[in-house]
Amino acid sequence: MSSWTAKTDSGFLCLECGKVLATKRGLKRHARDLHVFRNVWYRCPVCGAALQSKNTFCTHLSAYHKELKGVDVELFARTGPPEQEEVLP
Ligand SMILES: [Zn+2]
Ligand SMILES: [Zn+2]
Repeated sequence: MSSWTAKTDSGFLCLECGKVLATKRGLKRHARDLHVFRNVWYRCPVCGAALQSKNTFCTHLSAYHKELKGVDVELFARTGPPEQEEVLP
């Protein structure tokens, strides 16, 4: 197990958000769905760039698309390998 989990009396604790899951499997799914532990990236809605992390995405937005300042970046989170078929007009 990596450092973001801890075993407790009531189950497996997610150190990222404090949620406790009954099983290790449940915790893994929770982490995959909710946290940036694997294969999460961000698609820029303006220029289509694929950003590797929330931090890079925020930096990208403030550098190139100031009009999107304050937008909820989680709306643009994706998982899995970046798809190539999304071609902007
Ligand atoms: Zn969590
Ligand atoms: Zn962009």
